[in-house]
Amino acid sequence: MSKTLIRGARIWDGSGAEPTNGDLLINGDRIEAVGSGLSAEGCEVIDAQGMFLMPGMTEGHGHLSFDNVTATEDLIKPGVEEHTLLTARVAERLLDQGFTSVWGASEAKLRLGVAVRNEIEAGNLKGPRIRAGSLEISVTGAMGDESRLHDPRPGGPSHIVDGPEEMRKAVRLACREGCDNIKLDVSGDPFYPGTPANTTPMSYEEVKMAVDTAHSFGKRVNAHVRSIAGAKVCLKAGVDALFHCEFTDEEALDMFEEAKDRVYVVPTVSLFHTLLYEAEPYMSADVARMMGIDRLLEASQETHTALRKRGIKHVIGGDFGFAWSPNGTNARDIEFFVKYYGYSPAEALVCATANGGAMMTMGTDEKLGLLKEGYLADMLLVNGDPLTDTAAVVDANNLKLIMKGGVVHKNTTAA
Ligand SMILES: [Zn+2]
Repeated sequence: MSKTLIRGARIWDGSGAEPTNGDLLINGDRIEAVGSGLSAEGCEVIDAQGMFLMPGMTEGHGHLSFDNVTATEDLIKPGVEEHTLLTARVAERLLDQGFTSVWGASEAKLRLGVAVRNEIEAGNLKGPRIRAGSLEISVTGAMGDESRLHDPRPGGPSHIVDGPEEMRKAVRLACREGCDNIKLDVSGDPFYPGTPANTTPMSYEEVKMAVDTAHSFGKRVNAHVRSIAGAKVCLKAGVDALFHCEFTDEEALDMFEEAKDRVYVVPTVSLFHTLLYEAEPYMSADVARMMGIDRLLEASQETHTALRKRGIKHVIGGDFGFAWSPNGTNARDIEFFVKYYGYSPAEALVCATANGGAMMTMGTDEKLGLLKEGYLADMLLVNGDPLTDTAAVVDANNLKLIMKGGVVHKNTTAA
């Protein structure tokens, strides 16, 4: 087993505690010790004087098969061969940006995340730890159903089911094909005028069947949910991770709080921020406002500020992969958590590291997301102070060391 000693770093362990100066010893894929004056015997030594050592980040809502998407057609058109290569490129890009873990939300074809995850785990490709996302599972007429009577579109980026039995079959299929996370489109969406964000086309019975089936395979369920009724359905049915969640009422907030030890919430705020302020020339701010994105962003701010105060475990992740919010800029979500939800930079970094690691390993004994003894050795050495300037982790030039499972992906500390 190879040993590495990172010496003289400013160590921020991801718990939210103040950083301390010291050394960190890695043995194999784990952190063996954190302290001061650790012995360098038998170790490769990395001199980290003046640098900030933090856990690797987790993208909580990954779309590895999305690259500069401007329309659903971009998900449908590419052949599976090209799409697999694209997915592998995006995965490596995320690791280059300090994301040592990606929780896959959904992919454009069923096995894109699975195949790339397997190749990375086998050491054939470079990339983060991946929990592979499934296709979106939706219902007839809802988000992702691109078919019309005169223009049937089977094989789109969504698996359309109706009723619990079809849901059971779809979830079992995704499990058989190796997906880790099953994605449900429970509520509507501003991109689908027939089912706007406040609607809830998927039924409780369908969601419950998906959860029970996925859990029986040891898999997790995550849901696209913007409506109040949708959030309640998901929380009642036992969904593991909820995305978006713009709309709430007092009852829903209480239900979130009751479930706070078992659910993770990923607001995906960057999508709305970039749609409103940075989507030219793909979409004008006027069109975004016509779609109600400004109101959704306001609702998101209100809801997630309330959820923060109630101690919900938020994870960063922003639906990156669109032309206006490209994969690779994912760490910007940290600054959006500060700007929109009232998190301090340190708290937002906890959402990017400790909470993400806990989400990746939920239901297992594995330890990820903190710089503590026994944890998997995923970490970054940053030139700068993310606790005062969260943008320090957005620019990959500042990431002097990227390590995943004790293996160095990048080391420019001596440069
Ligand atoms: Zn998404």
